Amino acid sequence: MNIILLGPPGAGKGTQAERLVADRGMVQLSTGDMLRAAVKAGSPVGLQAKAVMDSGGLVSDEIVSALIGERLDQGTGNGAIFDGYPRTAAQAASLDALLSQRGAKLDYVIELAVDEDALVERIVGRFTCANCGAGYHDKFKLPKVAGTCDVCGHHEFKRRADDNEETVRTRMAEYRAWPNIAPRPRRSSRSTKRAGWFAASTAWPISAR
Ligand SMILES: [Zn+2]
Repeated sequence: MNIILLGPPGAGKGTQAERLVADRGMVQLSTGDMLRAAVKAGSPVGLQAKAVMDSGGLVSDEIVSALIGERLDQGTGNGAIFDGYPRTAAQAASLDALLSQRGAKLDYVIELAVDEDALVERIVGRFTCANCGAGYHDKFKLPKVAGTCDVCGHHEFKRRADDNEETVRTRMAEYRAWPNIAPRPRRSSRSTKRAGWFAASTAWPISAR
């Protein structure tokens, strides 16, 4: 089973995906994680992506498709969970092609609907331990002892460069534009085994919390 998780940044797509990975043996394909890994590795794709990500924009469809295709070829267990992808009509068409080339199809699209102001607060306040990666939040989850990681006792923390309000608002606006640029809904067909594409309005809204 291959599914897409949709929702604005910080809606909890990653959390829901983790549960599906644990319960169903699926594989999470987060373009954000894949891109950050490519940037860290300093690969040609990563270097191209870095300049765009630093400005809060979105990387090109070609770069994203290349990353996804490579990952699909490595195998996806009981199915892929696409998280943060596709974001554009071109990426959606590309995903259909990437899957059908491999004899697969898209089964479901699930949209997480959440209040945007609450999301901004959640994202802008988050930080992690620089040593073990434990997650914290200025308002919702401070370390028990100020300046000391609960898990490993380390004293240094870090914040992601793109976790600032301006960047987050920009990404949300880009996310809101998504339904308008999505291709027309196309139902999957067993006879042709063609990859299905579902409009956001046919997705199952589920509460992120
Ligand atoms: Zn720690």
